[in-house]
Amino acid sequence: MGIFVESKMFRAPDSPHLVPFDGTFEHNEFSTAPPADTPSKSTLKEHLREAVDELAELQRILYASNTASVLMMFQAMDAAGKDSTIRKVLSGVNPAGCQVSAFGRPSAEELDHDYLWRCVRRLPERGRIGVFNRSWYEEVLVVRVHPEYLGYQRLPWRASGEALWQERFDSIRNMEQHLARNGTVILKFFLNVSRDEQRKRFLARIDRPEKNWKFNEADLAERALWPAYMNAYQEVLRATSRPWAPWYAIPADDKPFMRREVARIAVAALQSLDLRYPTLDDEAADQLQAMRRRLEEE
Ligand code: ATP
Ligand code: MG
Repeated sequence: MGIFVESKMFRAPDSPHLVPFDGTFEHNEFSTAPPADTPSKSTLKEHLREAVDELAELQRILYASNTASVLMMFQAMDAAGKDSTIRKVLSGVNPAGCQVSAFGRPSAEELDHDYLWRCVRRLPERGRIGVFNRSWYEEVLVVRVHPEYLGYQRLPWRASGEALWQERFDSIRNMEQHLARNGTVILKFFLNVSRDEQRKRFLARIDRPEKNWKFNEADLAERALWPAYMNAYQEVLRATSRPWAPWYAIPADDKPFMRREVARIAVAALQSLDLRYPTLDDEAADQLQAMRRRLEEE
């Protein structure tokens, strides 16, 4: 009889924003506002700069060691700041080692496949950081809030009611565990914005001409479904936060705080891997010295 030994995998860095792994997450208990002792805006920005620099250095080592990959997933209500967080947190990272993918309404080609497919195609290679702006989680968020979207998927059979979402959680958990076992560090960020703050940001999108393009009527329709979305998020975070694929519910009402927290979690995750630049064995080191002599003799 074989003994099952759990694979060694990346383990989630601790954080006040870490969503528990035992299904007890309560959305109401996670604040959308930063804690009272949060430093000033300028200090937060300084901290972000430091974390961005560290992330850049860690990414160079990740790239050189070419073993693990990192997948950062972002989910949020509209205007929570996914785009700007991705832009700021990854601003120091070498673009050659990083790939950002956004997942909107699925195309006809994407609907011809299972719902994981389009995301799987964009998973990061070893040594790379992949960023998902939305992800397969849309399939248990927007699709759960709008079950009529299931019609477009032309599934020949499917579980009904609650069982369908449980099956999807199961598929997603299995997929993520598979990735983790095979070298992917998964970090999932729920940018937790309040309904009131969203209203303010929508108003700014209307009032400021350079932001008009970001706003449309559909955003208002989704906003009206806020309680249904919060329910769906709560279920998702309960069902899919795991030590090897953790969710972090980041207070999103204050952008400098949110960005610093995301950056610091990414830094902590990469540091925990204890990656090193590859080193040479004696024979390879000798060869390198021989090559040096040849260059010097030229
Ligand atoms: P912003 O937050 O700046 O508005 P965005 O991420 O909302 O950017 P959009 O192109 O406006 O980008 O919206 C993408 C839309 O596609 C979202 O409303 C999202 O819920 C929807 N979507 C994503 N995946 C799916 C899916 N699998 N099925 C149906 N709708 C989806
Ligand atoms: Mg949108």
